[in-house]
Amino acid sequence: MEPSIENYIKNLVRDAILHLQFRNERQTYVVANWKMNKTIAEATEFFQKLKGRQDVKVVVCPPAPMLYPVQLMIKQIKKPIGLGGQNVHWEEKGAYTGEISTGMLKDVGCEYAIIGHSERRQYFLEDDATINRKVKKAIKAGIIPILCVGETLEEKNLLQTEQVLSRQLFGALKGIDMSQLIIAYEPVWAIGTGQSATADLAEQTHAYIRSVLKQLVGHRAETISILYGGSVNGENAADFRSMPNIDGVLVGGASLNASSFDEIIDVFAKGVPNI
Ligand code: PEP
Repeated sequence: MEPSIENYIKNLVRDAILHLQFRNERQTYVVANWKMNKTIAEATEFFQKLKGRQDVKVVVCPPAPMLYPVQLMIKQIKKPIGLGGQNVHWEEKGAYTGEISTGMLKDVGCEYAIIGHSERRQYFLEDDATINRKVKKAIKAGIIPILCVGETLEEKNLLQTEQVLSRQLFGALKGIDMSQLIIAYEPVWAIGTGQSATADLAEQTHAYIRSVLKQLVGHRAETISILYGGSVNGENAADFRSMPNIDGVLVGGASLNASSFDEIIDVFAKGVPNI
């Protein structure tokens, strides 16, 4: 049966109200992905210089051997900074040389784990099924996954962005309780290239990601924070922050330096605007 115009308008208005209501409730995050960078001495210097803020959730994801020392540094400077791993395994223990379990992450104070970063997909051949197992295990263990999705330049040029994102999201989130989940949209062509997506393009893509999440969890999709990642810096951060579907950023290069990371934190710490 065709929906009446009256019902169609009612649904549109209801969706707009839900969107505005949850937008103000969604957590804003500024997440640092240090990748394979920083010694203990460099991390110590970083935290000595970092100002940080109380009014935005900042999370730092150092390399695995640095998790424990970084946890101690965060405690010492008494700043509200969360700790995250850059990867996690789907099993709790066993013969998996080089891997890290959720129990180990929790033991050193991690609340978060980046899962499915494009560098893991590209260099370590992680596919959607593997990522699904990791996300499932993290949620079960009480670690909040920061699930990365994004298209390559080739896929973008072939106009396959939506198709790729839909496949990645359905694949990674199959059978998952999404109450504790963060999504990071990271177009591969924007990572480490200095060529960030425009805020308009990122907003359009985030709205698409939210529409896919809606297919998976209905209106609860409005409560899931979706971060943008890819060449974010102190200059372009404000453009991303002004967008209604962008709930923070995942930062690589610019998170390695305390003052450039502080610039980004300051932009997102001004609170969510009333729209
Ligand atoms: C990343 O790799 O997660 C990332 C966003 O890197 P960069 O900010 O350097 O583009």
